[in-house]
Amino acid sequence: MKRIYLDYAATTPCDPEVVRAMEPYFFEKFGNASSIYSFGQEAKKAVEDARDLLASFLGAKPEEIVFTSGGTESNNFCLQGSASALEKKGNHIITTVIEHHSISEPLRFLQEKGVKVSLVGVDKYGLVNPDDIKKAITDKTILISVMHANNEIGVIQPIAEIGKIAKEKGIYFHTDAVQTVGHIPVNVDELNVDFLSLSAHKFYGPKGVGALYIRKGSRLTRFLHGGDQERNRRASTYNTPGIVGLGKAIELCRDKMKEEASFQTALRDKLIKELPSKIAEVYFNGHPVKRLPNNVNFSIKYIEGESILLNLDLLGIACSTGSACTSSSLEPSHVLLAIGLPHEIAHGSLRITFGRWTKNEDIDYFLEHLPKIVQKLRAMSPLYSS
Ligand SMILES: *Cc1c(COP(=O)(O)O)cnc(C)c1O
Repeated sequence: MKRIYLDYAATTPCDPEVVRAMEPYFFEKFGNASSIYSFGQEAKKAVEDARDLLASFLGAKPEEIVFTSGGTESNNFCLQGSASALEKKGNHIITTVIEHHSISEPLRFLQEKGVKVSLVGVDKYGLVNPDDIKKAITDKTILISVMHANNEIGVIQPIAEIGKIAKEKGIYFHTDAVQTVGHIPVNVDELNVDFLSLSAHKFYGPKGVGALYIRKGSRLTRFLHGGDQERNRRASTYNTPGIVGLGKAIELCRDKMKEEASFQTALRDKLIKELPSKIAEVYFNGHPVKRLPNNVNFSIKYIEGESILLNLDLLGIACSTGSACTSSSLEPSHVLLAIGLPHEIAHGSLRITFGRWTKNEDIDYFLEHLPKIVQKLRAMSPLYSS
């Protein structure tokens, strides 16, 4: 059977070149990068080469990069580390209603410990208004955290503008750039950020490795206590193969990103153009142009996303829905509710995300089969009368 993967926002396959680059660091070059003999030094060099590649990609300095276990740890590190480092300055953090759970959950945890959190809303496209951020600032604000691009609806936020406001007020600014690094240009100075999270498995690298960019001079309490790795900012033995994989993945993205983005934008716009001609009552979510090249999110009225997903899976197509079908709750996505979709429409939502190995034919196959599934499901739906 055909197998078509249209869920690159959930995770990407590792590029074979990434795997090849990692391989020597499992056996021949397995040394602990903190050891002073040659086994350790060759590992250390590989870690530092990866750090240089990543820093240069982000327009940062190598010493401003701390490798972590992924996006979730980077986000926790930044939020919890800021709350702790700046507790004498204040206890107020500003964020948005559409953040990933690896931002909203640590903030919930911090709220239980007395941190005040302001949640800024978004418009119908999912865009944050920088003025709303500005209005939320108090003299107790220690951090603003706004995601670069949303993982569900792909909307790209005005990070540089928000960063400018934060800078003027002398408040640290963090962005969760897990969905953008490797896909669109990300430069820490242009974006005016002090902290930035990223994760290798979202850009063709291995799972379980990521990084936090920490602007030089920023105060941040360490999150993992133990050894003195990462200039005393994050303990634990260096994940040499993972870090090497991240470095290789970023090198490949550096070389391929521009071309890939333009190919993906064409696929994206083809879906956006053709779906409404094949399916009645489909509505696109997110911003028409301020969006990731590889993301299409839409709602199909009168049917459940989960049913579509299962039917697509029978044809070998993998994508995501806007409701939490894997969890026990049937709550629709907080992002779709935040842009104002009613529950029943949010439930009928699909997210299609593609990447390096997606072909024109894959999108054609999807466009051929989805309308048939929709027709079948609608015929069974008590809500639908044609
Ligand atoms: C995937 C994702 C994360 C979590 O990254 P992990 O490396 O899987 O922990 C955080 N934020 C966003 C926006 C994501 O898409």
